[in-house]
Amino acid sequence: MPDPEGRMSSAEVDFIRTWILRKHKGTMPTCPISLDQIWMVVPQVQQALVYPVSTVTWLPQTAYPYVQVICITCGYAMRFNAAIMGLFPPPVPPTKTEESDAKE
Ligand SMILES: [Zn+2]
Repeated sequence: MPDPEGRMSSAEVDFIRTWILRKHKGTMPTCPISLDQIWMVVPQVQQALVYPVSTVTWLPQTAYPYVQVICITCGYAMRFNAAIMGLFPPPVPPTKTEESDAKE
């Protein structure tokens, strides 16, 4: 699991490269823009937010970690859900009680 600042170890970056190779049947994907196959794993887990963002209080329940892999030739980026990749436990939807508590 990445550290509290979201930084991944070199073993986790290697895991991501291996995960992509396994899912893409043994080859790195071809960039749809430059047609190269040289990708860089961004070594920090990033966070996607559900839109629209109306309050800060519900961000923890509606923000999802992802890993970004960038084509080093042109900058085209692929994003993968970090929980589905296995870097984090899968997200748990808030219960009815937690939703009503957040609104108070
Ligand atoms: Zn490219």
